[in-house]
Amino acid sequence: MNYPHNLYIHVPFCRSKCKYCAFYSVACEKPDWEKYCQNICDEIKFWANRLGKIEIPTVFFGGGTPSLMPVDVMARILQTVSDNFIVNKDCEITMESNPKTLNHEKLSDFVSMGINRLSVGVQSLNDDELKFLGRCHNAKEALDLLNIAQNMNIRVSADFIYGLPGHNVKSVVNLCNEINKLGLEHVSLYELTIEENTPFGKMNLDMPNNETMAKMYTEIPNVLNLPRYEVSNYAVPGQECRHNKNIWNGEPYIGLGKAAAGRVYMNGIWYEQKGNNELLEKIPNDMRAIEKIITGMRTVSGVRLDSDIKSQLNTDWILKHHDLVVMDENSLRATDAGMLILDDLIMEITK
Ligand code: SF4
Repeated sequence: MNYPHNLYIHVPFCRSKCKYCAFYSVACEKPDWEKYCQNICDEIKFWANRLGKIEIPTVFFGGGTPSLMPVDVMARILQTVSDNFIVNKDCEITMESNPKTLNHEKLSDFVSMGINRLSVGVQSLNDDELKFLGRCHNAKEALDLLNIAQNMNIRVSADFIYGLPGHNVKSVVNLCNEINKLGLEHVSLYELTIEENTPFGKMNLDMPNNETMAKMYTEIPNVLNLPRYEVSNYAVPGQECRHNKNIWNGEPYIGLGKAAAGRVYMNGIWYEQKGNNELLEKIPNDMRAIEKIITGMRTVSGVRLDSDIKSQLNTDWILKHHDLVVMDENSLRATDAGMLILDDLIMEITK
């Protein structure tokens, strides 16, 4: 029997395109849900054929905007997952959502089908900022959805973006104080990054400089009442996103949908998996270990020092840089200072 795999299901449709967004998604009035559903169900069966009736610890519907999905499409996909794999009662099933696309009734239907964790794209609590970002909802609509979700028997998370033009440390302090009032158990706080080929990429925006961005990032844990557990994620201990944690910790996962990618572990070999089922490339063990270091170092608990990981580390450099990285018997993790330069740090700690 093959190893359990987490499932990521990509939904590539949005109501409209946000101005900062470089994710694979298309603004679409009327997506062809029938075709989408058929493709995803075919992919599920394909993987069940290859891997057998394996256990699925988590399912994550990401996007795009999964909450746009018609209820019957979600029902068929989840039914196909449970017909073909082992889905235990404690399986975490997350759906990302846009506040404009979900109301009480639709969310209740999703929850009755098995969704037990909702991630809400709030992004800002200021209507002018939401407009600037190109979001299709206002702050009240986002707060209403949070309220609805918090009154259902599910786990709730909210995404926010900071570091907009004109933001300073005070702005992020205010944002964190506002977030604290919402009583959330999980929050993701992302720095606005300007990506090429987005409307923002062509606008020459006056962004906060690196020093201000670093100060903002450092200030978040001082104000937010949830501890950081990954570069951009904060949660009541025990309420972390299990799906993402599993992936950061190097567990295997399958990506379903055209733009999704995965890391499949089959008969003792790692494979790179892309949305197209046929594209399976072997990943040598040393390369997979480096990938695990890259994702594991994003977490506050760090990367576990298994033998494959140890063999890739530059121990001399690590032992000389206690200010940036801490190593004990079991794990290697970045300090707060190290987290600020994570990409460079990973280059240094690996051979
Ligand atoms: S809703 Fe999300 S995926 Fe869709 S355009 Fe906006 S940021 Fe991108």
